[in-house]
Amino acid sequence: MKFTNVRLVGFKSFVEPTDFEIREGLTGIVGPNGCGKSNLLEAMRWVMGATSAKALRGDAMDAVIFAGTTMRPARNWAEVILTIDNSDRSAPAEYNEHTTLEISRRILRKEEGTQSIYRINNKEVRAKDVQLLFADASTGANSPALVRQGQVAELISAKPQNRRRLLEEAAGVTGLHSRRHEAELR
Ligand code: ATP
Ligand code: MG
Repeated sequence: MKFTNVRLVGFKSFVEPTDFEIREGLTGIVGPNGCGKSNLLEAMRWVMGATSAKALRGDAMDAVIFAGTTMRPARNWAEVILTIDNSDRSAPAEYNEHTTLEISRRILRKEEGTQSIYRINNKEVRAKDVQLLFADASTGANSPALVRQGQVAELISAKPQNRRRLLEEAAGVTGLHSRRHEAELR
């Protein structure tokens, strides 16, 4: 499962539709302060089903929608579309007939609250379906492959116990610990 393109529309600072082609060997993004590097990574987490507003550096879910500037009015919706090459059939078996997967998430700003619409190849699905697709492929919004800004500094300056927690999270053993704890209580 290779990510080949990510398209942002009205997402944070990316007000105009913006495509990022993801080529083999890409390991980092550079650019001046405030140009949108972190926003791009957040868009990737978001389209994979991230639901924590804090992890997306906003107080509310609709903080991902372009909020407007003195020059441009705010938008009422945002969308991120992730294109995946599945020609190696590494996505869950139910997607085997698709050599390309297009995962999209759109959010609408409404008076009665915001609402996300998820689609896989244009078919509306639940957030859970998108999260499971990535979890089964051992990646997703919490993947240790996506390193948040400040996360490295956090690791260096953390107290030993907290540093261990961060490393265990990255190693994917946090789930095992909670299951052991549960077993010991019985
Ligand atoms: P740095 O190098 O400082 O980490 P960066 O490239 O990671 O910078 P981002 O944090 O991705 O930059 O982008 C910050 C910019 O995005 C700010 O100018 C901020 O105003 C803008 N921004 C964030 N959310 C929104 C929003 N909802 N609407 C419009 N602009 C937004
Ligand atoms: Mg940043």
